[in-house]
Amino acid sequence: MCRHLAWRGEPRSLHDLVLAPPHSLETQSWAPRRQRHGTVNVDGFGVGWWVPDRPEPVRYRRAQPIWTDASFASLAPTVSAASVVAAVRSATPGTAPDEGAAAPFTHGRWLVSHNGRLGDWAAARAGLGPRAADVPDTRTGVDSALLVGLALARWLDGTPLAEGLAAATHDLLAHGGGRLTTLAGDGASIAGVVRGEPMWTLATGAGVLVASEPHDDDHRWTEVPDDHVLLVDDDGLHLHPL
Ligand code: GLN
Repeated sequence: MCRHLAWRGEPRSLHDLVLAPPHSLETQSWAPRRQRHGTVNVDGFGVGWWVPDRPEPVRYRRAQPIWTDASFASLAPTVSAASVVAAVRSATPGTAPDEGAAAPFTHGRWLVSHNGRLGDWAAARAGLGPRAADVPDTRTGVDSALLVGLALARWLDGTPLAEGLAAATHDLLAHGGGRLTTLAGDGASIAGVVRGEPMWTLATGAGVLVASEPHDDDHRWTEVPDDHVLLVDDDGLHLHPL
């Protein structure tokens, strides 16, 4: 299943975060080391980041494998950001193959990426509520869009980032469950839920990287236990049970 990452810390280039490491997200798209479901992640990719003085993130997505996009490779060294969410996709059978189904999904100041598979799409759709159901990114033909919609329904009501993501996960657990590992950001913080797919963190003096799998052999990579919620904010990395 897909691989994704989020960074929060000192500004780093997209090239540094996504392309350069020995087992980068780009490498993981054709040779993941720890993938439990599926073998490659070639059904599109996306990168989102926040820029100063603009609440909405910038998002770049394509339906093609990340290594085939020479334009992304060319711009990636020139773009640096303090907060980034990126994903390479292995499409769940029966979902849309186009760019619109590739993470990260966005609305307002939020970006979301889902790694896994929802047990019951119909149940999730029923819980969206009118405001989230109107968001274009919740209407695409992929299960992840509904998870995104449930989280947005909470965030639009004022629920904080990690709490909203956890609440959306609980909504889905009550209706079919599934593999519901997610990463989300709002420009200020990064949050994640680990449920059924792995997640790792690398905390250094420069910031915190959260990723589906370690992108190098640094001994500081730490696996987040299943059924946990994580938050990265000004005070660093916080973990608590789902
Ligand atoms: N179900 C999502 C999709 O089809 C995520 C798939 C994954 O994690 N591989 O895009």
